[in-house]
Parts: sequence; C-alpha cells; structure tokens
Amino acid sequence: MKKMWMMVLAGAFAAGLVRAEEPPRVFALATAGDVEFELAERIRNYLEEYTGAAVRFTEPVDLAEDGNLEVTGRAAAETLKDDEFGIVVLARPTTDQPQGICLPHERFGILNLTRLGQDVEEDRLVRRAGQDGLRVMSMLVGMSPCPFPLCVLTYFNQTEDLDMMSGNFCPPCQDRFTRLAREEGILLIDREARAAAAVAAGPVEAGAPEDPDAPPAEAIPMPEPEPAAP
Ligand SMILES: [Zn+2]
Repeated sequence: MKKMWMMVLAGAFAAGLVRAEEPPRVFALATAGDVEFELAERIRNYLEEYTGAAVRFTEPVDLAEDGNLEVTGRAAAETLKDDEFGIVVLARPTTDQPQGICLPHERFGILNLTRLGQDVEEDRLVRRAGQDGLRVMSMLVGMSPCPFPLCVLTYFNQTEDLDMMSGNFCPPCQDRFTRLAREEGILLIDREARAAAAVAAGPVEAGAPEDPDAPPAEAIPMPEPEPAAP
C-alpha cells in the first residue's frame, strides 16, 4: 500500500507537478451573454494551444444588468471550483464597456467580445480574443507585460493594435508561463503528444462543404515570435 502511494507520488513528480498531493487544476472558461458555443470553443482551443495549459468550460454566467464587466467577472469568480485555478469570461455586453478587465487577486479576467469583434469577421475576433485571453491567463499566474515587441504580452494602445501583434508568447514568456503554471499545479497539455495523435488519426474530415467565397485560412497572419537579437 505504502509502496503504491510512493509510486503515485513519483509519477506525479515525473509529470512535473509540484503540488503532487492535490489534483491538477485547470483554467475555467465561461460565457456571459449571447456567445455562440462554436465561437467560444474556437477561443478555448486557441488558449490551450498557445499556453499549453488546460482550459475547461464551466457553466455560463449571467451578464450584470447594466452589462458591467467587473460585476459580471466577480460573479463568475464566485463559481470557481476547487480544481479551477482562475476563470476567463467571454462576455458580449450590449452596453459600452471596456475591452476587458483582469483582477488577478480575484482570480478572474473578462473579455469584451462586443468590442473585440466590432466590424471584423469571426476569424479576427477569435485571434483578438485569443491574444487578450493569453494576456489574462499570464496575469492570473502572476506575469507582467513583456518589453519584447514580438510578444503577445507587449504594450499596446487600442484594439486594432492586436492585429499587428504576435498571437503568441515569446519563448522566454512561454517558459515563464509554463514554470509558473507548473508551480500552481495547473494541468499542462502534452502538445507534442496531442499533435502526434492528430497525425495518427489522419486528416480531419471537414463538416461542411467548402465555400469557394470563404477567405483563405491564412487571411490573418499569425507571426511566430523570432528569437531576440543578440
Ligand atoms: Zn514575452
């Protein structure tokens, strides 16, 4: 019995979990307001792919009556379960609200899809929300903005600036995120194993017939961060 427990612990340490005595935690993702599941799922995929951390849907939350994002986010944070490290809310307020709010000490970040998606197509909205989501998740684990311009955590002024920015962490920020997430006992996804499994499973069948008018998949550039100049 004792030996078995030791083996379980050894396995957990091998998996890189510092808080080996507790089950791994995940980031919760909730919607608030009129947000389609397919859109939320695309954003969830983006966040998992570019952070390497597990992001799990939780119950939708009600938008505050006046659409107030801070009130909505706080209410979402109250639903956090034991195995949820923090919550990211995808909100679609109908009143004028900021682009997003993140209060790391209250363990929530909330994104304004109304503002992020104003006058742009869904692909661009997904990328913008993904970028802002990465920023929120990095703040939730205690990271600061990055001075490197080819990093999604760099400084910016307005929503449109996101389109010119990297969609991803720079390598040092990715390393920092992974280390901090591991220290917090957050479940990390083995991206290489997942990619290998996807290759083994063969090409994915498209659910819908191809639309000749659809923009090409590369319509929105997603530059890879380049290594810093020596
Ligand atoms: Zn960076």
